[in-house]
Amino acid sequence: MKKEFIKINGLTKYFGESEMPTVKDINLTINEGEFIAILGPSGSGKSTILRAITGLMEPSEGEIIFDGKKVNGVNPYASIVFQTFALYPWLTVIENVELGLNAKNFPKEYSNRKAKELIDLIGLDGFEDAYPKELSGGMKQRVGFARALAVEPKLLCMDEPFSALDFLTAENLRTELIDLWTDKRMPIKSIIMITHGIEEAVLMADKIIILSKHPARIIKEINIDLPHPRNRKSPEFESLVDSIYSVFTKGKFSELEEEKVENIVQDSKDNIVKPVHIPKVHIGVMSGLLEMIDDNNGKMDIYQLGRDLMMEIDDLFPNIEGLTLLDFVNVNDGDIFITNFGKAFVEADTDEGKLIFKTQIEKISSFRLIMNVLGNKKNHTMKREFFKEIFMHHFPEDEVENVMDSIIHWGRYAEMFNYDHDSEELYLESEI
Ligand code: ADP
Ligand code: MG
Repeated sequence: MKKEFIKINGLTKYFGESEMPTVKDINLTINEGEFIAILGPSGSGKSTILRAITGLMEPSEGEIIFDGKKVNGVNPYASIVFQTFALYPWLTVIENVELGLNAKNFPKEYSNRKAKELIDLIGLDGFEDAYPKELSGGMKQRVGFARALAVEPKLLCMDEPFSALDFLTAENLRTELIDLWTDKRMPIKSIIMITHGIEEAVLMADKIIILSKHPARIIKEINIDLPHPRNRKSPEFESLVDSIYSVFTKGKFSELEEEKVENIVQDSKDNIVKPVHIPKVHIGVMSGLLEMIDDNNGKMDIYQLGRDLMMEIDDLFPNIEGLTLLDFVNVNDGDIFITNFGKAFVEADTDEGKLIFKTQIEKISSFRLIMNVLGNKKNHTMKREFFKEIFMHHFPEDEVENVMDSIIHWGRYAEMFNYDHDSEELYLESEI
């Protein structure tokens, strides 16, 4: 029978003055013996969730129950491995590992023996007395793992632990960690790994939690029943990766469509415009993607597109989000299709293209809001700060600048309005 280990109840987190939570109503149960991967685009709130579990951050709403007790303050039974580990340069490998143990007031001799064991376990024997500057990135990360494990945590948290390493080093460490875990050579009850790599999650985890962005919410939980060691090239593996791509796109983009419709409804009913999020992407990159889809008979597998371009979901998805907002593509079940508008845009010359682009953004609530304000002002000019304040009610605080940047980039490209960098004002060209 599965034994419940961690329970996250309605975890919600607001930052700053924003009325939009960064993390919204996360409910999740983690059982003993489970390796969980939390998958989501960067900036979605993954680290925030981990910080709540480890007690480094207090939730705005909700609670974390850890081994039957509510987390309140730093959780002494959880350790974290970060993307890059801050090792003390003036301490040797063994001293760096002992550090965590010393803090717990174990006898010196015990700490020393324990640290040696862990250094062996993690494959660094012979390097006990080396200094961090003598180690490669992969070896430093191994020290990080040893230090996190030294305190015998019940929960091992990893926040993108392999992202800073080259592919081979990362793959070796992943395999070794899985071996240690499946051989039960670490006394840990559960592992939570944060990642933005779909394949990494499928390679390692028993269960994958997929998050959306703005705010972070769980879109789906997927169990991975493949036995270890897993083969990235096997049909089962590939089909799982493919299906996660579709879950991701489905959750994200169908929601987006609904949001657009909702805006228009609200607009006609009571004149309240709810601005939609505009992703920070380059129009040239979106056009390039659109051309590729067009060249491929107007349809592409998103997973394949990502592979062909060697783009991580973090880079690819904002572009697809942008193309969807413009109604240049439709996304369905992991496939992306060019629309008639998209086709017209690809085939048009620059000036025609700009016109099509302008027609499309005129339908987007955030641009309509800007145009309503500029159109109604006598001098047709308004401070960037003004719009920023409005958008603060709709997007997380740190995202507002990005949204403003994108709106200005798109609006200028479409020659819808212009922007003066010095005065930080948006204005209608013809009126100046
Ligand atoms: P991820 O780990 O998924 O990349 P994070 O959890 O680090 O995302 O951050 C989610 C969002 O919350 C980001 O936009 C980030 O800027 C914001 N954020 C995180 N911590 C804070 C904080 N202490 N104060 C204000 N904003 C924060
Ligand atoms: Mg993070």
